[in-house]
Amino acid sequence: MITIEKNIALLPYNTFGMAQKASAFSAISQEEDLAELNDYPEYKQGILVWGGGSNFLLTADVKEWVIYNNIKGIRVIRDDTDDILIEAAAGEIWHDFVRYTVQAGFGGLENLSLIPGKVGASPVQNIGAYGAEVKDTLYSVKAWDLQENRFHTFSNADCQFGYRDSIFKNQYKGRFIITSVIFKLSKKPVVNIEYGGIRKELEGMGIEELSIKAVSDAVIQIRRSKLPDPAVVGNAGSFFKNPVISEDQFHQLKSHFSDMPFYEAGIGQYKIPAAWLIEQCGWKGYRDGQIGVHPRQALVLVNYGGGNGRKIYELSQKIITSVNEKFGILLEREVQVYGG
Ligand code: FAD
Ligand code: NAP
Repeated sequence: MITIEKNIALLPYNTFGMAQKASAFSAISQEEDLAELNDYPEYKQGILVWGGGSNFLLTADVKEWVIYNNIKGIRVIRDDTDDILIEAAAGEIWHDFVRYTVQAGFGGLENLSLIPGKVGASPVQNIGAYGAEVKDTLYSVKAWDLQENRFHTFSNADCQFGYRDSIFKNQYKGRFIITSVIFKLSKKPVVNIEYGGIRKELEGMGIEELSIKAVSDAVIQIRRSKLPDPAVVGNAGSFFKNPVISEDQFHQLKSHFSDMPFYEAGIGQYKIPAAWLIEQCGWKGYRDGQIGVHPRQALVLVNYGGGNGRKIYELSQKIITSVNEKFGILLEREVQVYGG
């Protein structure tokens, strides 16, 4: 039996602090309920799957039936000598699951500590941080097919993972409700501390013996010091993806902007930090009433309280235009904008 609430305020359900409403809202806590969805008239409104709401910008009330994924549970599927397969239900809080794996000594997710949101959304944009991505450890995804009314299992390859991208953002956008994800984690973990400030943070913490727990703690500390806490200032993390440009464009830009930071991103491809591009266009710390660009992290657009989603969207458009005019690079939004 599914309970449907009408005209519910989404403010407690999104980290940007947007005050829009959902015409119909249901929390689903067991897989079996999904087979009943199309018995309800609200099904005809279309369905919008909701996790922790940490990657949404709402600019309008939601007309679709919001299905809030609250399916819980973590279980071991297979325990081998070197690896372990662990299934986490989609409604588990991502960081709680990471903490569980770190405490158990299973390696692979420690660099992804403290990312907001739920397990079910993690394959949608192939979440990534500090040199790790979900695709590195994801074994399979179980999802309810809204079109064919049955469960489907996706292998890692089926998910067509890319940089902050997957089949669930493209061909299958809106078609599947992910119900659980299986990760293949290592019982003999090899830590990755080469990215960004992890090594320095570990040194500062006085860590002598490396462990996945130490790496997780370092990532948590860096994130707490660098990123605005959505509980204090509304935001959805990085608003834009880091653009990847061709070798020709890279050399052309480097001749004009010699201090432009970059990272090689495959053969003949260069990733340019979007935060640098935005800062060069003068947006860092910009504020217009209750909305703006974070003063310490130019990739994060913020709502200081009561801000308007449409104004944030318009600000993102201005940023895209100015970066394109100055660098000839078209920034792509990472945040899912509902309402356009
Ligand atoms: P939601 O925002 O609820 O949904 C996101 C998208 O996934 C929507 O399209 C939704 O329809 C879909 N979706 C959600 N659940 C399901 C499901 N069960 N089945 C099918 N579709 C579903 N992201 C990173 O990659 N790396 C980071 O380091 C990072 N840091 C962040 C820091 C901050 C402070 C914030 C606010 C965000 C950050 N993010 C980061 C972005 C965000 O945390 C991730 O995108 C996260 O995976 C979103 O999870 P969610 O449960 O909140 O998804
Ligand atoms: P940072 O460490 O200051 O680095 C700036 C950018 O340069 C990052 O976006 C990162 O790209 C890239 N970079 C840095 N070192 C790299 C390396 N060794 N190899 C390849 N690329 C490198 O970034 P930050 O803003 O503090 O964020 C730290 C990490 O958390 C990043 O991985 C970032 O993606 C992640 N994060 C994501 C969100 C989000 O909402 N998506 C929000 C906050 C933080 P990548 O982004 O590709 O890693």
